[in-house]
Amino acid sequence: MLDVIIPTFNEEDNIEPLYKELSNTLKDIKYNLIFIDDGSTDKTLSNLIKVYKKDTNHIKIISFTRNFGKDAAIYAGLKESTGKYISIIDSDLQQHPKHILEMIDFLNKNEDYDEVAMVNSYTNESFIQKKMKKSFYKLMTRITHYNFEVGASDFRTIRNYVAKTLIDLKETNRFTKGLFAWTGFNVKYLKYTPDKRLHGKSKFNFRKQINYAIDGILNFSTSPMKLALYLGSTISIFSFIYLVYLIIKTLILGKDIPGFASIMCVLLLLGGVILTLLGLIGEYVARIYMETKQRPIYISKIKFGFDDNIL
Ligand code: UDP
Ligand code: MG
Repeated sequence: MLDVIIPTFNEEDNIEPLYKELSNTLKDIKYNLIFIDDGSTDKTLSNLIKVYKKDTNHIKIISFTRNFGKDAAIYAGLKESTGKYISIIDSDLQQHPKHILEMIDFLNKNEDYDEVAMVNSYTNESFIQKKMKKSFYKLMTRITHYNFEVGASDFRTIRNYVAKTLIDLKETNRFTKGLFAWTGFNVKYLKYTPDKRLHGKSKFNFRKQINYAIDGILNFSTSPMKLALYLGSTISIFSFIYLVYLIIKTLILGKDIPGFASIMCVLLLLGGVILTLLGLIGEYVARIYMETKQRPIYISKIKFGFDDNIL
């Protein structure tokens, strides 16, 4: 049995074509399609209900009260999965369902692998964007010592015990790519070429991607704090040496110390460094604060296709 987790947020025009493509591709195996409507404000939910009514045997729907984010949607899907294999796929047909069969085939033939992740072999992003992404994943691997494969997305197929492990990680601010890397399971990376988004626009603009990267670093590493420690101690050592030099120059050699400009420079530089580091500490404290509330990762209002249906 295969469970396919499909996070959807304002994808009204993609539901029907995606459903057709998935059911055509998977027709020879036992499967469930678990659609998560992540608080869509367009016709996504009603279009999902339309396909559900056509094919109640294969479709399940969880609808959130508001937009909780793709990572929360993936978590909800994992919680409701019961299959031997679980795949995660986007709803915009950039990731063709045929690759799910490839991943299952690989897992069937290779018992020693726990999951398969598809890696983008081509993207139509700009040179700078590609370079930034590549550097980000290299940096993540360096500072965390877990493997962040460049180009690996959430388009994966995992065995059911991998899903159970991911559900056991209860953090509310979920950086799923990091969680996959953190668990350390044996992953096979297969290359694929993403297609063009069928309808609509990407939900991750440049600003969101930067925030996502910051989340990744702060959620999985305390290295930035170490950087603060190193920077602070280096500045302290140099200023101490300079202080000794000034004392000798003034008290022993009796020379005057001019310099309003130099004092201002040092003050502003140090003020800037202190504020930056305070902000950094603030980010970590804010994360502790949010996690201590232990709020649920998502709230679902409507469910279709589950035993405890609220219809
Ligand atoms: N998505 C979601 N919640 C969000 C943002 C996105 O469930 O808050 C879904 C979206 O509907 C799509 C998938 O996550 O199925 C990937 O989003 P998108 O295609 O916009 O990202 P990109 O492919 O540009 O990285
Ligand atoms: Mg997409």
